[in-house]
Amino acid sequence: MSALHVIIAGGGLGGLALGQGLRQAGISVAVHEKDPGPEFRNQGYRIRINADGITALKALLTPQAFELFAATAGTPRARMDSFDHRLNLLHAQELPLDAALPGGGHLAVNRRTLRQILLAGLEESVHYGSALTRYETHPSGTVTAHFADGTTATGDVLVGADGVNSATRRQRLPEARVVDAGLRLLYGKVPLADTATRAVVPSEVLGLWTTVLGPERRFLGLAPVQYREPQHEATARLAPEIALSADGDYLACVFGARREQLPCTDEQLFGMSGGRLQAMTLALLEGWHPRMTEIVSRQDPASIFPVAVRTSVPVAAWEPDTVTLLGDAVHVMSPAIGVGANTALRDARVLTSRLVEAADGRPLTAALHAYEDEMRGYGFGAVRESADRGHRLVGQDPLPAAQL
Ligand SMILES: Cc1cc2nc3c(=O)[nH]c(=O)nc-3n(C[C@H](O)[C@H](O)[C@H](O)COP(=O)(O)OP(=O)(O)OC[C@H]3O[C@@H](n4cnc5c(N)ncnc54)[C@H](O)[C@@H]3O)c2cc1C
Repeated sequence: MSALHVIIAGGGLGGLALGQGLRQAGISVAVHEKDPGPEFRNQGYRIRINADGITALKALLTPQAFELFAATAGTPRARMDSFDHRLNLLHAQELPLDAALPGGGHLAVNRRTLRQILLAGLEESVHYGSALTRYETHPSGTVTAHFADGTTATGDVLVGADGVNSATRRQRLPEARVVDAGLRLLYGKVPLADTATRAVVPSEVLGLWTTVLGPERRFLGLAPVQYREPQHEATARLAPEIALSADGDYLACVFGARREQLPCTDEQLFGMSGGRLQAMTLALLEGWHPRMTEIVSRQDPASIFPVAVRTSVPVAAWEPDTVTLLGDAVHVMSPAIGVGANTALRDARVLTSRLVEAADGRPLTAALHAYEDEMRGYGFGAVRESADRGHRLVGQDPLPAAQL
């Protein structure tokens, strides 16, 4: 074990992935997560994992855990097609396959399954109910993190992986802004357990991601998660020490619209039951192809939740110190190209490599500067690309001028 001790605020996808990488490298790590436990919130949506995400997980997980990740991922057809609301094809897009990666580099993963794999082996290092409120940096460079329950923790580095509302970012980069992108999503799942439901879903919408565009830029996003073998069999075969919750095949079904198109305020939206959100979606899909309304009516109401799409506004380079940021905490983006989690996983891979160099003697702030320099390039690049596509395709607000 090296002498370096790293504190991570936030046990989401990015924070846990970094925790795994540091653990494999023999670097001491403590993850402080604000939720009281790993299953506290609805962790259950589908995530597209691309070549960046797969490469990162391969570098960060144990070989067994990576095998389990690949075996429990769906491998839909590598297509991202779009249709109009009458189901006429607007644009067909076949994605290039990378033969060296599982699924050719295009996997459809259940978020809760990925989190459970990311947590395996780290349980002793994760502290729940531990919400960072502020930190202080000492003249030696060490950092003390303060938590809402009055406890503190001191380490050589603090990594803010505390998501879109990051308390670490508020203190570290007070100039960085996160803005409402003007879109609202109603996310739900259609269980694909019975043949009647499967029969309703046209095979054309079983690619990696399908966008169905309607009047006034309302849209439905459809994306299947279909397992190749039951999770308990994959676990028993590949990594019996990892416990996964059982989950069945489903179609992720996301309705999206501009905020002002919804017949309710945000306060009402975020107070609605799944059943009411479903009824509202169906009312907004009047005149759409009957297959689309049939799919939405088969959503499990308990799975439906609203999301306000937000985006960071890129900021100029900052001076490095021993507090850094990772994932949505620094570059939250609209889900228009589905790369927020992939970018957080890439951060975890790059930061692990730089911290390994620091453990081997590279000056710590130089190592963190190298991470931040690289991360700002691809991270803010992805923010811009997501905002641009979201604007052109579904009317997301343009990104405000960058603070450079
Ligand atoms: C519906 C939906 C679908 C998406 N689909 C995709 C997709 O297909 N592909 C993709 O790449 N991305 C997708 N994303 C984006 C992706 O979910 C995020 O980019 C990713 O989760 C970011 O990981 P993170 O670790 O930075 O943040 P998070 O996963 O949000 O984790 C942050 C963690 O920090 C904790 N926390 C917050 N505040 C504190 C605090 N003060 N102290 C301690 N802990 C704290 C939170 O409880 C949370 O556990 C999607 C997002 C949504 C909403």
